[in-house]
Amino acid sequence: MRINRHFLELKDSYLFRRIAQEVAAYKSANPTADLVRLGIGDVTQPLAPAVVDAMAQASRELGVRETFRGYDDGGVGYDFLRSAIARYYAARGVAVSDDEIIVSDGAKSDLGNILDIFADDSLALIPDPVYPAYVDTNVMSGRRVAYVEGSERNDFLPAPQDVPDGVTPDVIYICSPNNPTGAVYTRDGLKAWVDYANAVGAVILFDAAYEAFVQDETLPRSIFEIDGARTCAIEICTLSKIGGFTGVRCGYTIVPRELTDADGNALLALWRRRQTTKFNGVSYVTQRGAEAVFSDDGLAQCRANISYYLENARIIGGALQSLAIPYRGGTNSPYIWFTVPNGDSWAYFDRLLREKHIVGTPGAGFGQRGEGYMRLTAFGQRDKVEEAAKRLTDN
Ligand code: PLP
Repeated sequence: MRINRHFLELKDSYLFRRIAQEVAAYKSANPTADLVRLGIGDVTQPLAPAVVDAMAQASRELGVRETFRGYDDGGVGYDFLRSAIARYYAARGVAVSDDEIIVSDGAKSDLGNILDIFADDSLALIPDPVYPAYVDTNVMSGRRVAYVEGSERNDFLPAPQDVPDGVTPDVIYICSPNNPTGAVYTRDGLKAWVDYANAVGAVILFDAAYEAFVQDETLPRSIFEIDGARTCAIEICTLSKIGGFTGVRCGYTIVPRELTDADGNALLALWRRRQTTKFNGVSYVTQRGAEAVFSDDGLAQCRANISYYLENARIIGGALQSLAIPYRGGTNSPYIWFTVPNGDSWAYFDRLLREKHIVGTPGAGFGQRGEGYMRLTAFGQRDKVEEAAKRLTDN
């Protein structure tokens, strides 16, 4: 037996596992410490009532012979959910057809699995800093990675002119609203990437996980709002953030029919084939819950949760502002990103943990360019967020 040695090339442990270990060690040494966790990007608001009702009804259906269901035929998602997602896009003027939408158990799975359809020697262009799974999934599968810098210079929104000389990517990752910086591309910003990808024959993997946080209507929430995207982009999205499905698990990937390689092979057919071969679909109960997220009642209830998190962000931002610490994000994103005082983000993580009993996420965990920054998330419960704001501002 020989292992996939690319696993040995991964940088230490996965960021959130390392944070969990450090917090557990602190907690066991200081059992009475009342920690406020503003670290991991997990939601805390319960599921919307419309979702709970739909899932309860769906489980009852499974208990009756006439309405029992087994495998989701083909495993790409029931028609009722794919058309609900298509309508969600249509409501913002984005035309995607049901059969271009492939339902999955979440964006993280799709982000890792989609690499199956690209050549082994593909070159991925990945923003730095960004959600660490992009780099790790490429490294694990032995693919080449190049970075494009996000920094104060470009407002953490790398543009094609920032691509290093000599790099011509095959796969370009874009995360907007960005995790961890909270930066959101404008339409012009995305258009530049779409034009670039079409010119060099690359594919954009657009991670829209936080689209529901975008409040400014001038900002795009889908890459398919941009002319030319249908020939160069795949959108990967999740119900984790819009619907609080981090534990329920449901996501979807949209692959436009027009998207092909240079020989005319359709990526939609490849992705469909990959999923139907290696995945057997999302549970019926989950898909009925997901459908309910996109119903009128479900959307209103989910949007109330998003507003709750955005208010949390405003409270955290207010605390930083009163300390004269400049920060980014928090308006069209659940993430707040700020410079740490001494430039060492793991040292600041430790200080925040020990002195304020607040768990944040060190920017360095999101890439080299994240060093010197800290990410706080707005996903906590209000009383905890208020407590954190108080602790931050108390001397
Ligand atoms: N993409 C980004 C940018 C994320 O931050 C996350 C989770 O935090 C995911 C994808 C994963 O989403 P899912 O829960 O659907 O796997």
